Amino acid sequence: MPDDFENDPHFIDVEGDLGGEGMGVLTRDALNLLMHGVINSCADGTPGFVSDDWLNAIPAETTITAAELEASGLWERRAGGYFVLADDMVKMVIDQNEEMDRTKAECAERGQHVPHEPDESAWVTCQHCGIPLERPDGGPVGLPDGGPLGPDPRTA
Ligand SMILES: [Zn+2]
Repeated sequence: MPDDFENDPHFIDVEGDLGGEGMGVLTRDALNLLMHGVINSCADGTPGFVSDDWLNAIPAETTITAAELEASGLWERRAGGYFVLADDMVKMVIDQNEEMDRTKAECAERGQHVPHEPDESAWVTCQHCGIPLERPDGGPVGLPDGGPLGPDPRTA
């Protein structure tokens, strides 16, 4: 880390600027990999475990970045991947996923989503569960009757 990291755009003071207690200073790449790794570990059903398979599937260099996270005490090497030691971040993502599951179930039970007013982004999302209902890129949107994301017409 350079001495003047505060002025270097490649580094971010996660603890001082973002409130990440005990996380110190990381490269932006490491913070990105940490956050995406945690989110993906939850999506994969292995909360807090970032697999080598997932890392190898990323089209960016991850070896050095993973080593940085390991040296920072945020990841620990295990067979087939890394165990995430940043418990607060894992817990936050788990809680957020549970909240999303709950609100999605409530929309399905209600039989409709709650659209918010369109804004300049041209995206319309459900006020309750956050699912996109209209989007400018033509990607998948929530099914009628409060359902989940429909098939993506771009890949049909
Ligand atoms: Zn909804």
